[in-house]
Amino acid sequence: MEEHGGKVSRGIQKMLKTFWYLRNIKKSKKELEKIQWRLLKKTLDYAYNNTEFYKNKFDRANISPDDIKNPEDMLRIPVTTKEEIQKCYDEMIAKGYDKNKLVKMTTSGSTGKPTILYFDKISHFYLMKVFKYRSKVFNGLKFSDRIVNIREELTEDNERANRRLFNRITGLTYLTTRESIEVVSKKLLKIKPTVIYSRPSDLMEIVKYIKKECIKPFKLKMILSSSELLTENERHVIEYFFRCKIYDIYGNAELKEIAWQCHENQGYHINVDAVFVEFVKDGRHAKEHEDADLVVTSLCTRSMPLIRYANEDRGVYTNRLCACGCEFSLIEKITGRKADYFHLKNGESVAPHVTIKIIRYPLEGKISQFQAIQKSKDRFTIKLVPTEKYEKKSEEKMVAGLRKLLGGNVSIKIELVRNIPKERSGKYRIVKGEVRNFN
Ligand SMILES: [Zn+2]
Repeated sequence: MEEHGGKVSRGIQKMLKTFWYLRNIKKSKKELEKIQWRLLKKTLDYAYNNTEFYKNKFDRANISPDDIKNPEDMLRIPVTTKEEIQKCYDEMIAKGYDKNKLVKMTTSGSTGKPTILYFDKISHFYLMKVFKYRSKVFNGLKFSDRIVNIREELTEDNERANRRLFNRITGLTYLTTRESIEVVSKKLLKIKPTVIYSRPSDLMEIVKYIKKECIKPFKLKMILSSSELLTENERHVIEYFFRCKIYDIYGNAELKEIAWQCHENQGYHINVDAVFVEFVKDGRHAKEHEDADLVVTSLCTRSMPLIRYANEDRGVYTNRLCACGCEFSLIEKITGRKADYFHLKNGESVAPHVTIKIIRYPLEGKISQFQAIQKSKDRFTIKLVPTEKYEKKSEEKMVAGLRKLLGGNVSIKIELVRNIPKERSGKYRIVKGEVRNFN
């Protein structure tokens, strides 16, 4: 469905396409696979014929979009990296789009330089509204819900939305953690939302504050989280405290919402009509349940196509169908950012969630926050924020567990600190690999 013709016909097309996207959630796996493949083929053709960047990439690899006949063939297209995007903005913008008239979005740049993405208004609408609302409505969001979205920084759009009468009627409020957690918590207690959308680390802080002040928490219908790895412990604490389910969303600034959890909590449903996700291990497509790099292709963005983007996250997939009835395929688990894996001298890699478990278990209740950092191949620092129940015996037990995991000869430094600072991006990272250039 191309966007051409007059304003009215474009408006009708947008509406029809929105309905089409909304209806996809009820389609069968077979139908969805067909739709996804058709959209992928169209995207490859479009990117090749409309951007200098992908024309060159395909030509250099000596392939054309027609050579891609099955998902396996996608491996022949070289990945697109963050560094390439940063160097080639002009070559990546599709013919017919004026960079200055596009919606500009900047990634947080937690590992270095920020990346800028350019979206045309129509793709932006599908990505920011249609796909985001579709999953939430599936999970039970109603028009009558009062939603509070807690973010690190408010954009101009967010501030405008806070002033808009429509938002006040529909009950959507944006709060910023630039104000203290105390202020955010007090505002929450006043607004009494039915839905909160926030990062897990901020939710944990809010729980801590409300508990400390002995205030009865308001009744929530659901919590949505994103941007950070949601650990099982955080899920348990937050769900238990607010007595409602938490639905985690996996996405990034480049592609927006990629996958989302449903009430069955069996993994993350991929928005298969918005993104094509590949799981790549050692240059081949990974097997089911195998930990792999995620390589993602946007099926929706027209102004700046993104094909086989190596987004530096890792995860595993499953062919299982979810019991919720939605047949969007599943990412079984997001295992973490590639940069947060610990890489050991013997060549093995340790996923962040494994490290988290080993540290958390012996120190349950004895610490309120922690961070594990790999400084070099055999040097690790563990920062702990102790509670009054902290004891040396548990610390020793944790260190013994870590030694078993990381190797007997590594140096493990324990630092007791008052708090763990957030990254420049505003995100809180529990596990942090500071060593680069591992292969
Ligand atoms: Zn499901």
